[in-house]
Amino acid sequence: MKKINLRNSLLASSLFSVLLLGSCKENTSTETEEVASEETAQTETSTSEESKESELDFIFPKGDKGPEKNFTGNAFNAGLVAPDPTYTTAVGNVYFEPGGRSNWHTHPGGQILIITDGKGYHQIEGQPKEIMEKGDVIKCPPNKRHWHGASEDTGVQQMYIVPNTEKGIVEWMEAVTDSVYTK
Ligand code: MN
Repeated sequence: MKKINLRNSLLASSLFSVLLLGSCKENTSTETEEVASEETAQTETSTSEESKESELDFIFPKGDKGPEKNFTGNAFNAGLVAPDPTYTTAVGNVYFEPGGRSNWHTHPGGQILIITDGKGYHQIEGQPKEIMEKGDVIKCPPNKRHWHGASEDTGVQQMYIVPNTEKGIVEWMEAVTDSVYTK
């Protein structure tokens, strides 16, 4: 087995910012300031929400914030394996902050989610919303409209595996409304 090195990981991470989450360069400086002030706040005070977040296991780097056009609330993506002609598989980790979720979307080649910590929801269109928690493995069938994200009060760490990337990775659609999210 070959362990990916930091350089490959960084390359994969930047690739994913473009491929999976899109570019969000417009707000880079603002986001950096917000992150910095959040970190300062965490060292000085500890509200209940921050405590919940810090309880989650961060196996991988937090990654880059997903763009508002594809996500409601905050989601951070760290690419781990960039797709290539040999493996035709994309792997990465998304951390959804409490309340954060993806838009509706499809994966032409399907998707597998492995939850490594926290609590979240996923829903395939036409089926009930389901809870996803640490240890859950979830299959999203090819071309089925679905969304996934954190619960209202607890974030979620979600590793994604997207196979068959020669068919495409993701097609983004409209946001998940509050009424669908809370149903
Ligand atoms: Mn998905």
